Amino acid sequence: MIYRLTKSKFIRGLQCEKALYLDVYKPQLAYYPPETLARFRRGRDFEAKVKSLFPNAIDLSQRLGHRIEKYPELTATMLAQPGEVNLYEAGFVYNEVLVLADVVHKDADGNVAIYEIKNSLSVKDVFRRDVSIQHYVMSNCIDRLTSFQIVYNDGNDEPLYEELLPTAREAKALIAKQVEHFKEVLQGMEPSVERGEQCSTPYECPYARYCSGKVATQLELAEF
Ligand code: SF4
Repeated sequence: MIYRLTKSKFIRGLQCEKALYLDVYKPQLAYYPPETLARFRRGRDFEAKVKSLFPNAIDLSQRLGHRIEKYPELTATMLAQPGEVNLYEAGFVYNEVLVLADVVHKDADGNVAIYEIKNSLSVKDVFRRDVSIQHYVMSNCIDRLTSFQIVYNDGNDEPLYEELLPTAREAKALIAKQVEHFKEVLQGMEPSVERGEQCSTPYECPYARYCSGKVATQLELAEF
């Protein structure tokens, strides 16, 4: 199984093509401040709470660990089983794009629902793009994808749900074009991009130190 893009890299590319390039070729330059890491931890706590609502799930990350390339094959095997199936971190690949789903629920009739969990008080535009790239991949891997919901936080760590399948379907052609464009970006040189609003929107870019030239990069130190 070959993949060149992932969901997170695709989202990074929408924010900045240089950040996408760095994510693929120089990820050691990324810097995440402590408050960002704390936010990630809180997000994982909420995610664990929502996942617990789907009982008897098979967690592919526990079975396969970092062997990400193995996830799609095991996911397909699990979803081919009769009856109800719940999966955490199920993997899908299409057109060299790999995505992992927080929760996949297949009912006894073979209908598949996906749940993307975000520890946020609202459904942001970037979440719609997140779901759209996942749908682009999964709709080519799953015969009966009948629901794709964002699960977000009501403010008291209880889940709220919003259906985004129609939004994702509408975006599919645009996503396909963006995927091809990002593959071209990754075949070229590091893009030259001026710092600007995109450095903090929708996320603080982890390459801000590198782009501001404030730190000697690990690559430079290695070459020294
Ligand atoms: S800091 Fe700004 S210019 Fe540099 S990679 Fe990140 S988003 Fe792009």
